[in-house]
Amino acid sequence: MKFKAPVNKNEEYEVDIIDLTYQGLGVAKIKDYPLFIEDTLPGEKAKIKVIKVNQNFGFGKLEELLKKSSDRVEDVNRDYTRTGIAPLQHLKYDAQLKFKQHQLQELFDKSKMDVEVLPTMGMDNPTQYRNKAQIPVRLINGKLQTGFYRKHSHDLVPIEDFYIQDPEIDKAIVVVRDILRKYHIEPYNENKHNGVIRNIMVRRGHYSHQMMIGLITRTKKLPMVDMIVKEIKDALPEVTSIMQNINLSDGNGLLGKSTVRLYGKTYIEDELLGLKFAISLNSFYQVNPEQTEKLYSTAIDKAELDGTQTVIDAYCGIGTISLAVAEHAKQVYGVEIVKEAIEDAKINAQKNHINNAKFVTGSAEEQMEKWQAQGLKPDVIMVDPPRKGLAASFIESATKVAPNKIVYVSCNPSTLVRDARRLAEKGYVINQPVQPVDQFPQTVHVESVTVFEKK
Ligand code: SAH
Repeated sequence: MKFKAPVNKNEEYEVDIIDLTYQGLGVAKIKDYPLFIEDTLPGEKAKIKVIKVNQNFGFGKLEELLKKSSDRVEDVNRDYTRTGIAPLQHLKYDAQLKFKQHQLQELFDKSKMDVEVLPTMGMDNPTQYRNKAQIPVRLINGKLQTGFYRKHSHDLVPIEDFYIQDPEIDKAIVVVRDILRKYHIEPYNENKHNGVIRNIMVRRGHYSHQMMIGLITRTKKLPMVDMIVKEIKDALPEVTSIMQNINLSDGNGLLGKSTVRLYGKTYIEDELLGLKFAISLNSFYQVNPEQTEKLYSTAIDKAELDGTQTVIDAYCGIGTISLAVAEHAKQVYGVEIVKEAIEDAKINAQKNHINNAKFVTGSAEEQMEKWQAQGLKPDVIMVDPPRKGLAASFIESATKVAPNKIVYVSCNPSTLVRDARRLAEKGYVINQPVQPVDQFPQTVHVESVTVFEKK
C-alpha cells in the first residue's frame, strides 16, 4: 500500500522546529513526517504552509514566527536567503560555528567511528571575505543586470552588495555592469542561447589588491572590446589583468575552453603565509584568505614535519599547500588535474625561490599509482580533494606507499567520513580530534582537517 503523507499541500500548521539540516533548513515533524522549512531554527515555533509533499518528506513555507530562537539574527536581507548567497545569515555566528562542528560530529557518530570534533575556528568579522566573484549577467525588463539566481532556478535577482564578498569586488562589478550597459552589450539568454556576455568574474588579491576582471562571453567577438577595456582600466585603478573567456556551450558550466588576454598579465598575484602566488582565471584558489591561512597552518602543524620528510600534495591547485610545506620538508610532490593551475604552481615555486617542489599535471588517482610503481616513498600525503572526496583507487595506491600520515583537508563532511571508513579498512586511523575551520561564514559549507595515522 502506498504511504499517504499526513499533510496536504497548501494546508497551514503550527509546528515546533526540532533540527537544522545540512542545507540550513529547519525541520518539523507532523506524525513523524518531516517537513523542511527555510528561515526557521531549532527551538522555534512557527505557523507554516505546506508547499510540497513528497513520499517521505515535504517542504513548508514560513508564514509567521510564533516563538523565536535566541540564536536568531533579526532583520536580515531576504535576498541573501532567497538566492542562497548566505543561507545561514539568520543564525548567530557562534551558533553557525557550533552547527558546523555538530554536523561533522554527528556524521562520525552515525558511522560508529570514535572521533572527537573540536570547536570550529571562526572569523572575527564573518562577512565581506570572498576574494572571488562570478556573477551572471542577464536582461531583466530590458536592462542589463548583475546579481544572483534565486535558489533552484535561473531567475536573476539583481544585487549590488553581495554581503560576503570583498566590497571592492562588489564595486567593480557595478562599474563593469555600467560600462557594459553603456556600450549596449547584449546579455546572454539561456533559453534562446543568444546574446554576448554571460558572466563577470572578479578576483582581488587580499594583500596585493591586484584585481582581475574576467568577461565570460558566448561569442568569440566582444563588440567594442577596446573601449570596454579602456574604460574598465580607467575606472578601476587596481585592475592589473583583464581576461576574456569564451564559453560557446549551452550548458551551465561557467568557463569555456579558450581564454584570451585583453589587458595586463594573465594572472594576479597574492600572498598566503608570506608566500607569493600567481593566480590565473581558471585556477582554483581558496576564496577566504584569512581563514585559509588558519586552515593551512593547521594542516601543516598536524603533518609534524622537521625538514627531513618527503611529502605528496595531491589535488594541489596552484601549489599553495605544497609551497607552504616545502620549507618544512625535504621534497614535495604536487599533482593537480588543471594544466593552468600546474603552470601557476611552477611559476609560484620560482617566485618564492623554492627548489624542492615538483609539480605534475594529472589526476591524483593515476599519478598516485605511477608514484607507487616508481617506488616513491612519501612520509606524509596531504590531500585537499573537491567535494566528491577521494577516488577509491587513490586510497588504494596512497595506502600502498605506506606514509606515516595522511593529512586530509576536506570541504565535504559526508565524503570525508566515507573516506575515513575506507582508510580505516587500509589500516589508517584517526587518533587526534578533527579540526573544522570556517572557510565560508553565513553558508552551510564545512571545511576541516583530519589526520590519519598508520596503525
Ligand atoms: N590545495 C589547493 C586546491 C584544493 S581544491 C588549494 O588549497 O588551493 C581541489 C583541487 O583539486 C582543484 O584545484 C581541482 O582542480 C583539483 N582536482 C579535481 N579533481 C582532481 C583529480 N581527480 N586529480 C587531481 N586534482 C583534481
